[in-house]
Amino acid sequence: MSKFFINRPIVAIVIAILMTMCGIVATLELLRNQTELPVTWAAPGRVDDAPILRAHSPEHLARLNEPEDFDADTPFYENIGAYARASVAAALDALKAARAGENVSSLMRPPGHHAMRDRAMGFCYLNNIAIAVLEAAASGAKRVAVYDFDVHHGNGTEAILVDRPGVAFFSTHLYPCYPGTGTANVGKNCFNYPVEPGEPRETYRATLARALDDLKKFRPDLVAVSAGFDAYARDPLVQGALVLEDYYWLGQSLRALDVPMFSLLEGGYSRELPELIFAYLKGVEGK
Ligand SMILES: [Zn+2]
Repeated sequence: MSKFFINRPIVAIVIAILMTMCGIVATLELLRNQTELPVTWAAPGRVDDAPILRAHSPEHLARLNEPEDFDADTPFYENIGAYARASVAAALDALKAARAGENVSSLMRPPGHHAMRDRAMGFCYLNNIAIAVLEAAASGAKRVAVYDFDVHHGNGTEAILVDRPGVAFFSTHLYPCYPGTGTANVGKNCFNYPVEPGEPRETYRATLARALDDLKKFRPDLVAVSAGFDAYARDPLVQGALVLEDYYWLGQSLRALDVPMFSLLEGGYSRELPELIFAYLKGVEGK
């Protein structure tokens, strides 16, 4: 079993996506100025079309170059296709590093877990985590689990991975909430754990723990984490309930699985995003 020694968030060019940019810049500053975690930085490589096309249609990939908004949440930006591909490249680099026994996170945006096979939505253009999971499965991983703790349901990841052999998806999220899915399990391998808005923190955390227990029963040989920090109680987007300590606990609990693992940043829009990410990374690193 691999042990993690190096904390190596993969971060590179700053990506200007809506309100998400300030949080990332501040996170980089915090991580660069702290001394508790040994951090090695890396920039993403390049990605071919082939791994992307396992998850998305060629039409969707071409559509990213057309200067027209995708929906109200998901505008067209100059070079958005290149930025989205850089996020995918970081996800694939993270997969590789995890397999080499490194403790690795990607702080790249745009995020990915809402992106569907044929459609960008919810700030997401390409589904980074689904692409990485399908790459893992195509290159020898027998049992890959996705753990999605973003406050929104990872509808795109679910739609792309449903009934794929050797893959399982576990998502804890608020419902009713955007994107309006995730009320029940789907197919043979997608397990959803909805929490009602207004439920206390204890309920939310117990639900995260239940999802993690079920993930353990799947006995994964690789864990891919959709790490969203918007279930935080003070996040401006929705009514989450978690506090800083819960993100440390999430990191610690995932570390305790003792399985190669990588984390990809999804949502998280509060001023405290840097502290939340730092707490999670400390948990993952066992500090
Ligand atoms: Zn979210």
